[in-house]
Amino acid sequence: MFRSIEKLYKIFKLEADLNYSDKAVVGGLTKLTEIWQADARGDGVPEGEIQQVADILKGYSDLSIQKRAQAIKQIGQILDNPGIKHLPGAKALEQPQIPKETQNDPSKPTQMLPKVTQTTSRASSRKPSGGAAPIPANALPDPFLSPTNTVHGIGQKQSQLLSKLGIFTVEDLIYFFPRRYDDYTKMKLIKDLTYGDEVTIIACVDRVGTFSSRDKNRKIIQAVVSDNTGSIQLMWFNQIYHLRQLRKNMFISISGKIEQYMGRLVMYHPDYEKISQEQINTKRIVPVYPLTARLNQRWLRRVIFSVLENWAPKIPEYLTEYILEDASLMDLPTALKEIHFPENHDNLLKARHRLAFDEIFLLQLGVLRQKHEWINAEGRKFPVDDDWLNNQLNRLPFSLTDAQQKVLSDLRADLDSGRPMNRLLQGDVGSGKTIIAGLGIAMVVRSGSQAAYMAPTSILAEQHYKNLKQLLTTSSDHHPLLEESQIRLLIGDTPSRERHEILEGLAQGWVKLVIGTHALIEDPVVFNDLQFVVVDEQHRFGVSQRAALREKGDNPHLLVMTATPIPRSLALTVYGDLDLSVLDEMPPGRQPVKTYINYPVERERIYNLVRIQINRGHQAFIIYPLVEQGENEEVLAAVQEYERLQSEIFPDLRLGLIHGRLRADEKDAIMRQFRDHQFDILVSTTVIEVGVDIPNATIMIIEGADRFGLAQLHQLRGRVGRSAEQSYCFLIPQTSDKVENERLLAMVSTHDGFVLAEHDLKQRGPGEFLGTRQSGYAGLRLASLTDVHLIETARNYAQQVFENDPTLQAEEHHLMRQAMEHFWPNKEGDMS
Ligand code: ADP
Ligand code: MG
Repeated sequence: MFRSIEKLYKIFKLEADLNYSDKAVVGGLTKLTEIWQADARGDGVPEGEIQQVADILKGYSDLSIQKRAQAIKQIGQILDNPGIKHLPGAKALEQPQIPKETQNDPSKPTQMLPKVTQTTSRASSRKPSGGAAPIPANALPDPFLSPTNTVHGIGQKQSQLLSKLGIFTVEDLIYFFPRRYDDYTKMKLIKDLTYGDEVTIIACVDRVGTFSSRDKNRKIIQAVVSDNTGSIQLMWFNQIYHLRQLRKNMFISISGKIEQYMGRLVMYHPDYEKISQEQINTKRIVPVYPLTARLNQRWLRRVIFSVLENWAPKIPEYLTEYILEDASLMDLPTALKEIHFPENHDNLLKARHRLAFDEIFLLQLGVLRQKHEWINAEGRKFPVDDDWLNNQLNRLPFSLTDAQQKVLSDLRADLDSGRPMNRLLQGDVGSGKTIIAGLGIAMVVRSGSQAAYMAPTSILAEQHYKNLKQLLTTSSDHHPLLEESQIRLLIGDTPSRERHEILEGLAQGWVKLVIGTHALIEDPVVFNDLQFVVVDEQHRFGVSQRAALREKGDNPHLLVMTATPIPRSLALTVYGDLDLSVLDEMPPGRQPVKTYINYPVERERIYNLVRIQINRGHQAFIIYPLVEQGENEEVLAAVQEYERLQSEIFPDLRLGLIHGRLRADEKDAIMRQFRDHQFDILVSTTVIEVGVDIPNATIMIIEGADRFGLAQLHQLRGRVGRSAEQSYCFLIPQTSDKVENERLLAMVSTHDGFVLAEHDLKQRGPGEFLGTRQSGYAGLRLASLTDVHLIETARNYAQQVFENDPTLQAEEHHLMRQAMEHFWPNKEGDMS
């Protein structure tokens, strides 16, 4: 982009703001002609274009307002400058229906922004409906949602590159936060460098050269750089391209470690970046963005800087003054500026705090709105008396753990409350969730209503079907709760005649319990009186899938279950709209899985242990982090290793292979074969994570264990140790990195999923727990879900607002409601 054109654009923008009154330049824009021509020639703008533009500018002052707007657009065409092309037209002519006071109201920022083409549904839905009525503020197109290529300086090509970073709109740009900062206020001077320092310095390139190493095998690129206090050498081996990048007299910032070479200080293979004079002079803290190839830091910095300059002041503050003051928060426009270009460290911290607060606050508002909706709904009552319940419990082959007792009484209370149950049941693998769900189902079906139980895979659905049939159709007194024909399994494989019968039975109401996969929502399944919905392994379903099942009843009770232990701070945030029950106790008689961390050299020995277990009639899992060997040759992959194990290590045993690239029915078939002991060893990626019960499996090897989160390892390990037999788990990390492997030690020392989850949350962040599919969480960029203090503060304010004004109807909550709706697109605040 030519500077001269950039200047022109700024002037035109101001002119557009002034509604083409020819006041952007003292004496009128025509006066600009000659100066600009000279400027543009100096810049190297093609002469033809200069002439055309000059011709138009010369006559500008004599034009009518309407013609001036057109003239400027025409200049935009000639220079092919999207910014100029998209400046708004003359207001009085284009939008005659806007009353005068609105037109001149400087507090209506949207009018000063480039006109937006209707590219988003939100923008178009906000289009005024026409007529003479004044346009409400929120009916104007939202410039923050306009595509990046409407920004001055961003062309089609850059816009495409930006989209690779997830940046599509102006707002995305503003919320594209730096990965880190280079603090040019705290640079070291070269004279102060000492051996061993890890530093950033700013220096000028004095010379660049190359010579061969003594053995002639390597080319060494050497640069000498200096500041006012001294000079230092930089060296690279065999990286010729530095010769092209480094130029004499160029200012660069250099980061790296100070080493010694022949008694002198030197930096080997440092990172460096060209910087501008301005950066050095102002000694700023400079943002460093996460980038994709072909986008450059300096360009992006400039773009974001100018976007902020133009637009940050126009970003509406949606928090009330009370909250801003009471919570001592930085205002939003300032925070957005400061997080990119902080004045100082203190401001940076305040900006991050403010923006992190926003994330949790908006998240909570959405969650609370959801809660509000169901808390006001009516649910049918299903009371049960003690005798009945005790009778059910006495029929079980075991007695419930204390934790199970407690959760059961939660369910019982919900079902008798008159409001729909909306409960999350968290319990580690094997903690006995199914039986609790089953007892809840019993409470509902005994009075003739229907229940549905949804599982993510058909093998799991089959397992639950078997267990629940056992629970609900047997009885000591010849009065079983249900007949076999009243409990049905509906999965993809269900033959069509049976399927028809089930659908008919559900519609007529004589099928009382259906257990199935997403077939339950995909098929035209209609219930006569669905009152209880259970969703197992809820994280495997999308929000809309869970909602779809629930909508098949009229405010049915809902129980969602997960085996992923979620730390409390996270659960409060994420599942704030659900009531929470936790099974934090294992049924008695389980032996903890003996867990070891081993190194690759010990593999042979572990294979022998596998063989011993198999000789005893047991089965084994061997888990790999990848499906197929990719570029990263060191990471073992299931497909290749399966072949090696089968041909070289266990030629006499039956091996199965399962991974995520198989179709769902293929995976199911293999799991089923393994369950039925047609394989001795199952070679797998993490697809076996979900709750399939194969008690005969007693030994597991996890290769590349360092690549997994602890919570995930814990889930994997939960596949063994499901019987009274002693089970074993061997973790084989592929690195010998001490720190990394110390993390794995937690697996040896604890079997408490919550403890491991807390570790994960601290070390790896919330991504371990939350699929990005769950809307809202993609919005958490700054807030650390380990920051319980921040979470609680933001929750409290959200709660306060909500209690006073649950639907955010008050005038002062108008912008807040918009912000929340924007944070929660598609009203997907429902986590259940
Ligand atoms: P999960 O919570 O992982 O879904 P399940 O419901 O599959 O666990 O239960 C795991 C196993 O534990 C099942 O075989 C179940 O019959 C058994 N079980 C459940 N509760 C108890 C209990 N209180 N005592 C003994 N065994 C139990
Ligand atoms: Mg389960």
